[in-house]
Amino acid sequence: MANPVFASLPTTIFTHMSALAVAHNAINLGQGFPDEDGPLAVREAASRSLIEGPNQYPPMKGRAELRTAIAGHAKRFYGLDFDPETEVLVTSGATEALTASIMGLVGPGQEIVLIEPAYDCYRPIAEAVGAVVKSVKLAPPAFRLTEADLRAVVGPNTAAVLINTPLNPIGRVFDRDELATLARVVLETNAVVICDEVYEHLVFDGRNTPPLITHPGMAERCVRVGSAGKMFSLTGWKVGWVTGPRALVDVVTKAHQFITFTTPTALQLGIAYGLEQQIDFTLNLTKELQSKRDRLAEGIAKVGFEVLPCEGTYFLTASIRGLTNEPDTAFCERVVKEAGVAMIPLSVFYQSGKPDHMVRFAFCKKHEVIAEAVRRLETYFVPR
Ligand code: PMP
Ligand code: GLN
Repeated sequence: MANPVFASLPTTIFTHMSALAVAHNAINLGQGFPDEDGPLAVREAASRSLIEGPNQYPPMKGRAELRTAIAGHAKRFYGLDFDPETEVLVTSGATEALTASIMGLVGPGQEIVLIEPAYDCYRPIAEAVGAVVKSVKLAPPAFRLTEADLRAVVGPNTAAVLINTPLNPIGRVFDRDELATLARVVLETNAVVICDEVYEHLVFDGRNTPPLITHPGMAERCVRVGSAGKMFSLTGWKVGWVTGPRALVDVVTKAHQFITFTTPTALQLGIAYGLEQQIDFTLNLTKELQSKRDRLAEGIAKVGFEVLPCEGTYFLTASIRGLTNEPDTAFCERVVKEAGVAMIPLSVFYQSGKPDHMVRFAFCKKHEVIAEAVRRLETYFVPR
């Protein structure tokens, strides 16, 4: 006897491809993590706290310093006013923030709408709470969110819509019109929106799209999920948060208190310092990532991948049909072993009707690492 939701699942594709990358000495452009750690000053702030303490349970909602810094960041960048006491919750990574949000806001038998391609943790968590999962499938190559697609699944039975923008895996940043459409559709129902905005700053080409929660009527309907790992290139720290109206944050907090209860103090204080003193690191990271995106796109296009536009995130998506007719997963498993470059097959981000001709590359890597990956792909694919 076991929970069939989890018993039927494989190990995540990120762990699987990273293990293959290690086994085959491959360059890992699969799992999305930077190969350079974030600011030393942030790590020093955390290490001082680790040595000097306190080292016993921090408050369940998170350290006041971090909750204040999270509210300050939302005010500075989006003009949002969150009360650090009642409208900010610190979690152990965005993964926990999403889990607590789904558990808190969607009950057994209630409907949650996902937008596919969708990050891998959403569906199993929703299914494990007994929710009914509906999905909107974005169509390549434009991957636009349309009113008709939303209206087909969002209705009186919808408890929550989960939107991720910038969108992992395809790097879309939903524009103002798409968000306004979502707001309009949602406001005709009683649904709330869980906004996974972990890549909020990793947006390219000068785009500046205000978050859904700033749209008229949405302040009472949205919870925003953030991740310090993405902002400060410290993905191993697993510090995340939820911000939103008190009524929603309260119930998400009730779930959080029984998932992790809290998050290590030293890491919270390091990130509080980062949000207040080191946000320039994040803004520069965006510029760096944009040039890495361009370099990788140019390199893999020469190899024969058809590269799709990328407006944000760590990730670039490309079609493999110019190179092979095999499905994306078989292609990724062959290339990691034979060419020494790991990628992620896009089909894992879909439940049914999966496209099997696209792969995802992570470009949050040093320039020389990207250059070496391109060189390996050229050697393998381009006949001499
Ligand atoms: N949401 C998305 C879209 C992600 O890509 C990730 C992981 N990179 C997460 C949530 C989880 O973030 P964390 O590592 O802070 O748990
Ligand atoms: N979010 C990262 C990615 O998309 C992976 C995080 C994980 O391995 N759980 O690559």
